[in-house]
Amino acid sequence: MTGDAPSDAERKMQFLYTLRSKGVMDARTLTAMEKVDRGLFVTGHFADKAYEDMPLPIACGQTISQPSVVGLMTQALNVQPRDKVLEIGTGSGYQAAILSHLARRVYTIDRHARLTRPARALFDKLNLSNVTVVTGDGSRGLPEQAPFDRIIVTAAAEDPPGPLLAQLRMGGIMVLPVGQSDTVQSLIKVTREPEGFDYEELLPVRFVPLLEGLAQE
Ligand code: SAH
Repeated sequence: MTGDAPSDAERKMQFLYTLRSKGVMDARTLTAMEKVDRGLFVTGHFADKAYEDMPLPIACGQTISQPSVVGLMTQALNVQPRDKVLEIGTGSGYQAAILSHLARRVYTIDRHARLTRPARALFDKLNLSNVTVVTGDGSRGLPEQAPFDRIIVTAAAEDPPGPLLAQLRMGGIMVLPVGQSDTVQSLIKVTREPEGFDYEELLPVRFVPLLEGLAQE
């Protein structure tokens, strides 16, 4: 080993190795994550930490999630190529960019226009033309595009929001953190079965809270 900074290839190998070591085993998830450079979604002071497995601050007091948590959520969502996916909490756009490589169509909503605008510009630049970015209150879902095959929520609510459960297609899967915002939350997987909703607890996580209404600029 020399003291030189790692090459892009070394950094990528280390990044994928860390994901696997944290339980991200699904080949399609790993391939999609390999295609998305997290460095493009982290700007400013923390740009040099973009390839580390840690959450990082983004604008508006929000955070881009830890890559291994993004991987575990994406894996649990089990997106199929024909799927229409809804994400609540665009943030940096990193999770949506990964989903765009797995799904037919991705809708992503954030309550901050200061986050949706740069995310939309980045998707355009990366030619991720199957992603639609909406500024709005995602706790109401996106009724005009419902039902969804998959829903992923990247901010924590006390319980799964009713409108999101209602907008999940039969057989569909929703992955979301639930719990009090300032304590430990659980990542859960909800599957809509003909008999009702099935709930599975996946792992403890910590997300920013799901807030109601549009943010003031
Ligand atoms: N998925 C993001 C990380 C999201 S952080 C990424 O890959 O970078 C959580 C985001 O949820 C924040 O940007 C916050 O503004 C947003 N959020 C919180 N409550 C919301 C709501 N009701 N509707 C839409 N977005 C919301």
